[in-house]
Amino acid sequence: MSEIIVKENLPDKQPVEADICIIGSGAAGCVLAYELAKTHKRIVILEKGRHYSIEWIKRMQNDEHELLKLWKNRGIFVSRNYSVNIAQGQCVGGSTMINYGICFEIPDAVLTDWQQTHKVSISKDELGAAYKRVGEMIDIRKITAQEAGKSHVKLKEGCDKLGYSSDWMSKCYIPDKGKQSAYVAYLQKANFESIELYANCTAKKIVVENKKAVGVIADFKGNQFDKPKDLAVTAKRIILSAGPIASSELLLQCNLSNSNGQVGKHLSVHPSSSVVAEFDEELQGDEGYPMAFYCDEFSIRKKGKPGFVIESVFVPPSQYAIITPSYGKENRDFYLSKYNHAAMAGVLVHDKPDEPKGIVTLNWQKDAVVDYELSKVDQKNMTEGLKEAARIYLKAGAKQVITGHIEKTVIENEEQLGLIDQRGAGMGALLMASAHPQGGNRMGDDKSASVVDSHCCSHEIKNLFICDASVFPTAVGVNPQYTVMAIATLTADYINNNPPT
Ligand SMILES: Cc1cc2nc3c(=O)[nH]c(=O)nc-3n(C[C@H](O)[C@H](O)[C@H](O)COP(=O)(O)OP(=O)(O)OC[C@H]3O[C@@H](n4cnc5c(N)ncnc54)[C@H](O)[C@@H]3O)c2cc1C
Repeated sequence: MSEIIVKENLPDKQPVEADICIIGSGAAGCVLAYELAKTHKRIVILEKGRHYSIEWIKRMQNDEHELLKLWKNRGIFVSRNYSVNIAQGQCVGGSTMINYGICFEIPDAVLTDWQQTHKVSISKDELGAAYKRVGEMIDIRKITAQEAGKSHVKLKEGCDKLGYSSDWMSKCYIPDKGKQSAYVAYLQKANFESIELYANCTAKKIVVENKKAVGVIADFKGNQFDKPKDLAVTAKRIILSAGPIASSELLLQCNLSNSNGQVGKHLSVHPSSSVVAEFDEELQGDEGYPMAFYCDEFSIRKKGKPGFVIESVFVPPSQYAIITPSYGKENRDFYLSKYNHAAMAGVLVHDKPDEPKGIVTLNWQKDAVVDYELSKVDQKNMTEGLKEAARIYLKAGAKQVITGHIEKTVIENEEQLGLIDQRGAGMGALLMASAHPQGGNRMGDDKSASVVDSHCCSHEIKNLFICDASVFPTAVGVNPQYTVMAIATLTADYINNNPPT
């Protein structure tokens, strides 16, 4: 299959003239490009990260070190108080190139809250139709126990014994072909003739004249080692899809769409911590999938209010070494020898954005900084989640369960679960990570409380759209990419049907 051509040189003539300029080529950017190329002749995509061919990714799929190149800052971006590390992708295809391809629809209670509290006028039917279109493009199918591998089955066994609501996850992949990232499933199928893609190209200014977005200036490096040169694009419409944090960062840098002070506010991250359970039998977790089974007994889907989801994962030795007490010879020999006997789960807390006060601001260098703290309710949910995950594995026959606490915490039976309460989830108690930043540029029809309307159109700047996970008014409470792609589909439909003014 031929791949989309990536521009390696500055064009002879500047500014590049486009119908639409899309900043960022992640979950939202790729969907937008594909859908908009059906009716627009000239779409320019500017992507900060590099382009990696499908061939390169296939060759490197077992080389963790090389694959870290696809991650923003090689996976390290911590909140100002070091409470949480937030992972994102930075390459053509964005975070969908490094994610696990797990797909969930937005829980009903979250959509209702978006509609009623945040005045989002997207109906369940509209969103449902968009999910269906995305699902057909990315080939969503339910994982089976056989392909998932034995380590994931342990979470199922424990949930079944406790009678907890749980199921196999759905994932976008085609057997023998692999994960259907937004790059593979959308950009590779788009009408290439209408799309110009610049990689290594960081948008640094959105040009606005008379309250109308008219162009973008970017730092372009044909090759990552080149010195950046200015690339100017003029476009009838500009779509900012740089993902949470980066989209707010660019708006703040340009002082745009922010007269109500909402840009950068209400950032949620789905804070997660983990447990590792050790079993007598060999589970060979690295032969199965990295994620496969979930327990939603304590989540908004079952309880109607934010709680937590427990998701089975299996991480490579480098990450396992971080979450188990593996320093010092005794620990190292013991825990590394247990890798093949391990089952692992992440506890994903559905954080409420107004309480933990996730905020994106700029530092003195004008780079984004995130302030983030768990609220008391979220701390309680995290503690309960770790206890429930440990309980599930003990029921499944685990000999011991190790939690992600900084203080070594090893649970061997249910009577010891109280130790997790003692450790808690306060500042510095836990190793906490996030792969799901959301919000920062809230969507809603109330202009005083949001940044974009329900079509992802800026309330203040004509012809400027912001479309990515940053527009979520609150966290979805489940893995977000499917909802990002569905909202991008609706935004593209709106743009295709409504000419610029
Ligand atoms: C390790 C990991 C695992 C995950 N697993 C899952 C999963 O299994 N299921 C799920 O639903 N979700 C998962 N997610 C989350 C999911 O991938 C994201 O929610 C989703 O991709 C967000 O889409 P987006 O378009 O908002 O941003 P992204 O997909 O992150 O894309 C944004 C793009 O914009 C680019 N960009 C940033 N700034 C600029 C700039 N100034 N100029 C030009 N380009 C710029 C970035 O380089 C990036 O390529 C995972 C995420 C990670 C990191």
